[in-house]
Amino acid sequence: MLLPNDSLTALLGDRTAKAFAKHLGLRTVSDLLQHVPRRYSSRGELTPIAEIPIGEAVTVVADVVDVRERYMRGKSGNILEVRITDGEGFLSATFFNQVWRAKELKPGSRGLFAGKISSYQGKLQLSHPDYELFAEDIDEADAKRWAELPIPIYPASSKVTTWMIGRAIGVLLDVLPPIAEELPAEVVESNGLLSLDEAIRFIHRPDNDHQWQTARDTLRFHEAFLLQSTLLKRRSENATITTTPRVAGELLAGFDAKLPFKLTAGQVSIGNELLEDLGQDHPMHRMLQGEVGSGKTLVAVRAMLAVAQSGGQSAMLAPTEVLAAQHMRSIRNTLGDELADQLGLTLLTGQLGTALHKRALLQIVSGKAQIVVGTHALISSKVEFFDLGLVVIDEQHRFGVEQREALRLKGKKPPHVLTMTATPIPRTLAVSVFGDLDISTLTELPAGRQPISTYVVQQSQAALVARTWARIAEEFANGRQAFVVCSRIDESETVSEEEVALETENDELEITEKRPPLATVVGMTAALREVEALKGLRIEMLHGRMTSEEKDDVMNRFAGREIDVLISTTVIEVGVDVPNATVMAVIDADRFGISQLHQLRGRVGRGGNAGLCLLLTAAEPGSVALERVNAVASTLDGFKLSEIDLELRREGDVLGANQSGGRSSLKLLRVIRDAELIQEARKQAEQILLADPTLEKNPQLAAALAQLEESAQDNLSKN
Ligand code: ADP
Ligand code: MG
Repeated sequence: MLLPNDSLTALLGDRTAKAFAKHLGLRTVSDLLQHVPRRYSSRGELTPIAEIPIGEAVTVVADVVDVRERYMRGKSGNILEVRITDGEGFLSATFFNQVWRAKELKPGSRGLFAGKISSYQGKLQLSHPDYELFAEDIDEADAKRWAELPIPIYPASSKVTTWMIGRAIGVLLDVLPPIAEELPAEVVESNGLLSLDEAIRFIHRPDNDHQWQTARDTLRFHEAFLLQSTLLKRRSENATITTTPRVAGELLAGFDAKLPFKLTAGQVSIGNELLEDLGQDHPMHRMLQGEVGSGKTLVAVRAMLAVAQSGGQSAMLAPTEVLAAQHMRSIRNTLGDELADQLGLTLLTGQLGTALHKRALLQIVSGKAQIVVGTHALISSKVEFFDLGLVVIDEQHRFGVEQREALRLKGKKPPHVLTMTATPIPRTLAVSVFGDLDISTLTELPAGRQPISTYVVQQSQAALVARTWARIAEEFANGRQAFVVCSRIDESETVSEEEVALETENDELEITEKRPPLATVVGMTAALREVEALKGLRIEMLHGRMTSEEKDDVMNRFAGREIDVLISTTVIEVGVDVPNATVMAVIDADRFGISQLHQLRGRVGRGGNAGLCLLLTAAEPGSVALERVNAVASTLDGFKLSEIDLELRREGDVLGANQSGGRSSLKLLRVIRDAELIQEARKQAEQILLADPTLEKNPQLAAALAQLEESAQDNLSKN
């Protein structure tokens, strides 16, 4: 008997199972069953070609129009060019050295064609084409039923096509025993849901549209219900844990009295919320969302002062060395030297020299370091705290739950935890996605901030690109500084890690092969030093492959105005605070995600001067990539942008594995579209848990939740 946890090898054979794992991450029976179709086609209906976005991997139902054979000039070998149509538009697919396919691909034959859509010289092409033709010998009686039978179209790759997946699932469903129900019977009944067994069979092998539609509704609700139950359960478990209450006193009062500016209203009210949380005897789990530049760090520092009052320690975890060093500087600035020394402000990163490292560890274990700022190094087993009271996690989406958890476990009692993010999402959504955390949102920026203007610049237009450099020169003439951001360090780097993550999440980032090579930090630095308009400007680079001394040195010189133009990778994405920098040019902006661009842009316009952000792109008109760039240019509202971002991401994990802390690889749910459904599921989950807190009466639900938590943990250890 096959069980959900069985590996796919028994079912598919070693080779195919390996391909499923490698290309789609499908390893077990359960993974395969949960790999649901993206949409459905039918043999009777052609897919409208005009509606297919460029740059996407698609599967279409189309007819073959004609097939031409060509020979390559000066080379041996031939090309088979196949034109396919939806009756109106055309796509051409080319096969190298595969003329034998002409025998199959007869004009008039119909089938599924898969590949990536690109546009070349105004013509739509299907690159990496693959196809499966529909059988022709069907008798008349079956023809109508056959033409209307929904064909599931699965998220696929060029190595594992939708029809391979469909076949594998077909074989599986034939031998699979009935799938046990997971939801409480009353929930299934009152919501008019299918059984889980029916729903899974119908979603993969529907006889008609109605079946997959009801199956999809059922599975959506199912997913929402399990997710919300998990979050609610975590939350109620947290309430039973005890910790040391931390009460603010003179340290905070003295600090507030000396602040050179007024706290914003949001900083005041969230500050009070935090003080209240810290004063409780169970640990705070709060997320602080706040627009880029809204002053989250200050809110965190005030909470640290409350913890320090009773001798407790706070640790702030930052995603990069650059950012940790920057937090050190700015916390020291904010506290003033005297208070910083009194509190033993300490930096701990992997790249400290041995002596400094040892000293830092001693300060931490003795409790002298009451505020510690660091990178992943903080998590190391060598680090021991005397009395860890508060963990602050900056830019929380950069860390997995596991890393946060490791730091949390360093407290003798569970510490309070504050996570911070500059990728805010609307409150109602946040509650459903981060439902085990309390949420605070800083909406306003400190007074006196100037708005940032954002423009999209076509990289193909030399005059506009020249104007970009001229603008940087103008800002320089006014005593300001500039950032130039590239997606790559140098030619040796083919794809950045961030892009790999993004691409596996949504295949929309794929570029067509015809675009010019991407700009690199190294190349750009050399090029800009030669630009006439920039002669005399001090141009330097910053990237992740430099040593931490080099990085520190460059950042210090940039902050001290000894560098005019800083060319970098996204190492500056998070938190870098140089108020005198007023202009940023992002090269190949379409290679970045929406929230990333928004974060990058937040680096300018921090002082009292207006900021300017130029997004240079070679993305094709009509592509999702260009849509993303345009979205960022259209608004400064981070909430709006995260909504657009969520809408544009159709595939995969809505919030990204890291951002959601691995807790939800949402399959059928979409946070925005299904907001109401998610809230309804939450309400019902609350009722079930209220009546049956330990889930004794719902063992099947308890088992499903346990499995969910386990697979979330598994995902983390894989990452
Ligand atoms: P973010 O929320 O993006 O992390 P930061 O904490 O880096 O923002 O704050 C951005 C800048 O605003 C810092 O230079 C900080 O000192 C300054 N700042 C914070 N709060 C205020 C305030 N109430 N008034 C004026 N400036 C502030
Ligand atoms: Mg910050």
